[in-house]
Amino acid sequence: MKGFEFLQTELDEMKTQGTFRKLVPLQSEQGSKVTINGKEVIQLSSNNYLGLTSHPRLRKAAVEAAERYGAGTGSVRTIAGTFSMHEELEIKLAEFKHTEAALVFQSGFTTNQGVLSSILTGEDVVISDALNHASIIDGIRLTKAARKVYKHVDMEDLERALKESAGYRVRLIVTDGVFSMDGNIAPLPEIVELAEKYDALVMVDDAHASGVLGKNGRGTVNHFGLDGRVHIQVGTLSKAIGVLGGYVASTRTLIDYLIHKGRPFLFSTSHPPAVTAACTEAIDVLLEEPELIETLWENARFFKEGLQKLGFDTGVSETPVTPVIVGDEAKCHQFSDKLLEYGVFAQGIAFPTVAKGQARVRTIVTAQHSREELQEALDLFEKAAKELDIL
Ligand code: PMP
Repeated sequence: MKGFEFLQTELDEMKTQGTFRKLVPLQSEQGSKVTINGKEVIQLSSNNYLGLTSHPRLRKAAVEAAERYGAGTGSVRTIAGTFSMHEELEIKLAEFKHTEAALVFQSGFTTNQGVLSSILTGEDVVISDALNHASIIDGIRLTKAARKVYKHVDMEDLERALKESAGYRVRLIVTDGVFSMDGNIAPLPEIVELAEKYDALVMVDDAHASGVLGKNGRGTVNHFGLDGRVHIQVGTLSKAIGVLGGYVASTRTLIDYLIHKGRPFLFSTSHPPAVTAACTEAIDVLLEEPELIETLWENARFFKEGLQKLGFDTGVSETPVTPVIVGDEAKCHQFSDKLLEYGVFAQGIAFPTVAKGQARVRTIVTAQHSREELQEALDLFEKAAKELDIL
């Protein structure tokens, strides 16, 4: 069909530059090894930090919920799609996060979008870290609030933005807790201090910290001992929790407001029973099997140090998200392709997800990886990099 030549031109350009990417379908369940093109390879690209996507307790909870309550819910939450199990999950999340209340959205993406777009008006200002996730950026774009972007984790620049923002009804500082492409942790204690000094609210997106940082994986706020001092905590249920969804944990007032005004919550069908039951089970697993988080961190340290010893540039990573920075977009994709050929699935990430010239192969080890698998991956990183003159 004719009509999309204007898009095809751009795609053709990407093909010439070597940045056009095909989706990579898995032919197995998620795990430390996955099957791609009929071959078993080491998985270093998932967000399945704790291996919960295939945890026996989550599988069982999902199957039993589907058997008992069916495959779907048939409605949005605010009409006929709230089941008791949705509320049970939210009570559990609020307890887990030490907040008054919590509300589950369809994804982490729609949580950020829904919260930001519904609570801010033209009388407010939002102050955002330059490297915040796309869902925060899109949420901000949907508001009429004034917007200021401060240099990545630069507290002087944040203070400048706060000083310039006197006179607004609400000043909201928003930051990722762990930055998804670099794996560094936001300086939350300093952000909270500045927020208290300038009477601002703080919102943290803990997508990559949920199940990873803090006691039993409660996130960055708990990690820094800041319980009760951060106004809005967003988390996902789709990364370490292993299933799907996002949530906001905050005061009863904010949650009640979002139930009435959070557009993705109001206008999109609620999670199927299997998803909800598996998420609830996952929180119990976090509480009852803390050794999973310890193993994750031991593996992350081993792999990061291994990469650094080989001479790779892992940037400023402090968490299991470890980038191997290559720079050039096409070379980065060649590197990723070669790794896959040798038996490691580690995706290249390039512009627009990261800045131009900052292309990287992003790795995430999980609690499921064995030392042998990680050592084998390191050996293959070295081999592929030497062949491509990256090392
Ligand atoms: N925030 C951050 C920082 C993320 O990395 C992601 C996932 N890419 C999201 C939000 C969105 O989460 P979800 O995949 O649950 O929509």
